[in-house]
Amino acid sequence: MLSANNIERKSWIKYDFHCDFPIQNIPFGVFKTHNNEFHIATIIGKTVISLKNLEKNGYFNDISLNNKTFQGKSLNKLLEQKKSIWREVRNKIADLFDIKNKNFEQKFIKQDILFHQKDISMAMPVKIGDYTDFYSSKDHATNVGKMFRDPENALLPNWLHIPVGYHGRSSSIVISGTNVKRPKGQILPKGEKKPIFSESKLLDFELEMGFITGRGNDLGESINVENAEDYIFGLCLFNDWSARDIQKWEYIPLGPFLGKSFNSSISPWIVTLDALEPFRVKGEKQIPEVLDYLKFKGHKNFDINLEVLIQSKTSNPTIVTKSNFKYMYWNMAQQLAHHTVNGCNINAGDLLASGTISGPNKSEFGSMLELSWAGTEEITLDNGEKRKFLENGDTVIMKGFGIKENLRIGFGELFNTIIK
Ligand code: MN
Repeated sequence: MLSANNIERKSWIKYDFHCDFPIQNIPFGVFKTHNNEFHIATIIGKTVISLKNLEKNGYFNDISLNNKTFQGKSLNKLLEQKKSIWREVRNKIADLFDIKNKNFEQKFIKQDILFHQKDISMAMPVKIGDYTDFYSSKDHATNVGKMFRDPENALLPNWLHIPVGYHGRSSSIVISGTNVKRPKGQILPKGEKKPIFSESKLLDFELEMGFITGRGNDLGESINVENAEDYIFGLCLFNDWSARDIQKWEYIPLGPFLGKSFNSSISPWIVTLDALEPFRVKGEKQIPEVLDYLKFKGHKNFDINLEVLIQSKTSNPTIVTKSNFKYMYWNMAQQLAHHTVNGCNINAGDLLASGTISGPNKSEFGSMLELSWAGTEEITLDNGEKRKFLENGDTVIMKGFGIKENLRIGFGELFNTIIK
């Protein structure tokens, strides 16, 4: 069987080069029909494919997949199985839709395997157990340090030694398309000594990527940096919505809390780490040298272009930043190794997010906080409207894709509209 990644592979489903989901992608997600029936699924071009009905009709019988892996409402049953199984499933799907099996089309239509995007809506792909957010972009950490601490010593002394992170809230992680309600909370007005209760006036996005884990380590054990990628199922776009005014008043000494926990959002299709293999690149050289448990071999960064657009009630979507996942200082393998080095266990269905991904240039900053330099500068939308932070009615759209020669692997879109 050809690998799903094989660049020569063509599908009997038609799509153009600019689509995010060629047959070399095969991401995993969950959709809902208009009758509220859930299907675990993949997508090729614009055709959504029910893995539930593929499984029901016996197409995965030759894979040693656990019984009824695709009959539920989330990918968790698949996540609990090994990487070799994930790989077999993905290769099998690619084979079923390979142009050599063109005659499958009529059969698949009869078996209710193919769906149009307009007939379905996407649902949360994973029942997320624990969620951790890192702070692994050096440019982002440096920008924040310059704005709020000391421009000469922007990075705190631990930052170059530890992939800094905090435990977030998984209950409020929502799927693309869900409205985000402007949060309320305690805010300290400028020059005042006492806080007021108010809606947040400094609502922000954070451009991030998240990865979903498979079955990890037992409590008390650790994941080695060299095997860490075996526990990474795939990635999605991640918007870590942030209320900067609530955050600023509450975060010392224990870190982010209500300024973050009101919402985070994810893109609906989980793109496997396997599909991103062609986009591996070298990360920044880590100086000072890291401790042994964080030392790794090979290339563990990924060249994935990222964009954020803002569309107001009256503007067109306007690109406000273009960044890249390759800018991460700490890679995913290091994050997992660090997360588990104390014996903390990772479960199938955990979500680990990168932290805001900023690049070195101003046009590559991953949050309004940085783009407006703490509210001292304005961003202009295509109709002339100005923004320092986000307003009600604004839709934030995130996109991500890798491009190499004739291959484009994308993440689709993550969009959410802010409501009062
Ligand atoms: Mn974040």
